[in-house]
Amino acid sequence: MTKINDYEIAITEAQLDKMINQQMMPIEMIDSSFDGYQSLAEGDKKALSHLVKAARILNDVALEQDHPLNLQLKAGLEKAAINDTHAAKALKIFNSLNGVAGLNGIDADPIELFSGVHILKGRNFYPTDLSVDEFHTIIRRMVEKGKVDEVSRILSARTMVRRNGDELTAIDYTQYFSKAFSEMANELELAAHYSTNDEFNDYLGWQVQALLQNNEDMDMLADKHWAVLQNTPLEFTLSRENYEDEITPTIFENDDLVNLLSSHNIFPISKDMLGARAGIVNKKGTDLILTFKSQMSQLAKLMPFADKYEQKIDSGDEVKQTMVDVDLATLQGDYAQCRGGITTAQNLPNDDKLSVKTGGGRRNVYHRQVRMSGDKQRQMKILEALLDKEFHQYFDEEAEHIFVIGHENGHSLGPDSSYKDSLGIYKHIIEENKADVVSIAMMPQYVKTGVIDEITLRKIYVTWVVRLLLKSKPQQMHPHRVGDLIHFNYLLKHGAISITSDNKIRIDFVKMPEVMNKILQETIAVQLSKSPQKAQQFIEENSDWGKLHEYIADTLQKIGIKPYKDIRTYL
Ligand SMILES: [Zn+2]
Repeated sequence: MTKINDYEIAITEAQLDKMINQQMMPIEMIDSSFDGYQSLAEGDKKALSHLVKAARILNDVALEQDHPLNLQLKAGLEKAAINDTHAAKALKIFNSLNGVAGLNGIDADPIELFSGVHILKGRNFYPTDLSVDEFHTIIRRMVEKGKVDEVSRILSARTMVRRNGDELTAIDYTQYFSKAFSEMANELELAAHYSTNDEFNDYLGWQVQALLQNNEDMDMLADKHWAVLQNTPLEFTLSRENYEDEITPTIFENDDLVNLLSSHNIFPISKDMLGARAGIVNKKGTDLILTFKSQMSQLAKLMPFADKYEQKIDSGDEVKQTMVDVDLATLQGDYAQCRGGITTAQNLPNDDKLSVKTGGGRRNVYHRQVRMSGDKQRQMKILEALLDKEFHQYFDEEAEHIFVIGHENGHSLGPDSSYKDSLGIYKHIIEENKADVVSIAMMPQYVKTGVIDEITLRKIYVTWVVRLLLKSKPQQMHPHRVGDLIHFNYLLKHGAISITSDNKIRIDFVKMPEVMNKILQETIAVQLSKSPQKAQQFIEENSDWGKLHEYIADTLQKIGIKPYKDIRTYL
């Protein structure tokens, strides 16, 4: 076996060949021949090249956050790859996971590229040998000793935590990553120098400050200026999402500790994994998305128990939500950690961010190159194998895009974050489930207002149901997939879908709206309960995995799955 810096590559060359040749999907970013690039002003072309450079620098930051060995093992693989085919192939999978290990969305256990190098619960945010029990013990002890400010920093979204004797200490990202952040800031300043759009340049200026100053207010200001961008030629995002950290949210399972912390005004927030994306705004795609946006304040009134909470979009007359469809030049960091999927759209900032808490809006960016990279042949085979023939006519990729628009809008509807966060380790599953359910449950409203027609509604139902079919039993780490399982089971239990004697799925178009409203009610009730137990119960009640699921998973696996991604960047 090939060794890289004393670590043995754990996957055989033959196995890597299979993963690369049969299970890897290319995702083509735009290149300089792309129309949308050609028609940019010269200044914006130059600006884009600096935005891409900034994004590339950010990738090393995310590698460091994800695993303590990522950077050295990637460098080792790159060096060895020059004259060692085994290392060259391992490097391809490393780049797909954007790390030494990660789930691939099919196997229950993570893919591990090196013997003995495991994915860590606290990633590299926390000391590698810190157990949950010890973490809770230290936090309690430090609070009791009066070290409230330090504990507050340890439990913030923007610090790396290290041991300090028998205590812990927090290092702000702007300090821990000061070299990379300052290089990024330089690139963003150059981009702002060349870019033709004042509003965009204004945002870049704030983003530069957020990278240089240990001051959460700068993130807030950068986020606020970014979130209002609607008519700019270019797109750049520094994303901060906290789905990866599995240590911080364990605090919510410890009631005594939660109470102690809140009595000192400390509210733990999981660590942000950073990502960066750059691209060109697509005007036509953006116009379609805005058509759906225009309905959102109407939808907010139709949400279950709408009088019991304030919804993000209620604040002010205007919906504080911008939306753009983007042709991507690059995806880096968190975006490129393809561990069971790659995101087709993302609505930021999340609820835990200061900008949202202080009234800032959100911006939703749709990823055209990801959405258009689907495998059409495979899709046909899936329909043949699992969907009753009568419904094939309704399968439609554009309908999936409309569902995703509804999902992203769905995050802005329903109870606010004080409810959602109280669900602890279940919050992501419940929230992703909610966004899906809002999307589908609200679609008949778009028919009423004439945005879509009755046939499109059927297409959305059918395409969504096909999308729910799972290629393996989902892990808790994949909240969207757990949501899919919940929905599939729920639809089946309440008769909105049924299975023929030869294992083909049928959809009852009449029952769909009523069943979707029912699950929407239940979901919102769970969020309003603020009870992790209720959330767990809801998930467990709807997460059966039996013979039918196995059959579907086997069928999908036989058709062939491409869980690994090869993101090809040209600019
Ligand atoms: Zn979502």
